[in-house]
Amino acid sequence: MKIERVAVIGAGTMGNGIAHVCALGGFGVSLVDADAGALERGLAMIDRNLGRQLAKGRISAEERGRALARIDGGRSLDAAAQADLVIEAVPERVELKREIFAELDEVAPPGTILASNTSSISITAIAAATGRPEQVIGMHFMNPVPVMELVEIIRGLRTSDATTAVVMELARALGKTPVEARDFPGFVSNRILMPMINEAVFALMEGVASAEGIDTVMKLGMHHPMGPLALADLIGLDTCLNILEVLHRELGADRFRPCPLLRQYVAAGWLGRKSGRGFHSYASPA
Ligand code: NAD
Repeated sequence: MKIERVAVIGAGTMGNGIAHVCALGGFGVSLVDADAGALERGLAMIDRNLGRQLAKGRISAEERGRALARIDGGRSLDAAAQADLVIEAVPERVELKREIFAELDEVAPPGTILASNTSSISITAIAAATGRPEQVIGMHFMNPVPVMELVEIIRGLRTSDATTAVVMELARALGKTPVEARDFPGFVSNRILMPMINEAVFALMEGVASAEGIDTVMKLGMHHPMGPLALADLIGLDTCLNILEVLHRELGADRFRPCPLLRQYVAAGWLGRKSGRGFHSYASPA
């Protein structure tokens, strides 16, 4: 099966990055968000990030122009009717994802592959909301999508070999390295990353060191490119909390229990970079 047109559902932190790399990779893209403001911000972010790549000499002015021309924005899931592949990137809530997949299943042509960018939710459970579980798969991009090389590919229990082959090839066509992981909560990446982030929040709550101190220890001491609290701000604290809740519920181990301070920040609306304040402060929401 040849992929020519991709619909990306959700224009937030991940969705706009996925639309960006797909358009730059030569695919037609429909970027969909239920919220008009979020759609506008997502499209503006793509424009800005392509401009950044141009300024750094990574792409030409023509490539930037062609990529922008390949993207259209909309509010309705009906865009899936023209897509060969749909990549969903709405918030990390299982009921929301299952509702969207049931609707996509109605709208998308029979051959269309439905992928989720979920960080932790069962692909098998999402697939079961559709009549095409063989064509449902996890495509877990990393943040920021235009920069990060990995795509974790997650097969649900009923995902076909043909579907897997198509998305592995697509990931490579986008210049990424796909790695297959089994459908267990958090897959590989977040099962390992989230306990570290959570422990950093516990260390902050217990006053072991300041946020700057914790991040500096991990950067200079462990050679991490960014500290765990800055990374949590980049991911979005609401997203981190949602992922930890899935891990805690599904795996049942205490080590995944979300830190109360993380819950408190999310309750306060301190969501990290996207709200301008998280464990660190940011001049403007991004
Ligand atoms: P986000 O909150 O930044 O964006 C989600 C977007 O979905 C919002 O713009 C919202 O308006 C939109 N939306 C909500 N309901 C919708 C609906 N019914 N139809 C269409 N659009 C709708 O979230 P995000 O950080 O981009 O995360 C999206 C997904 O990607 C989640 O499953 C998350 O776990 C996963 N993910 C996130 C990261 C990260 O670092 N943030 C990394 C990898 C995977």
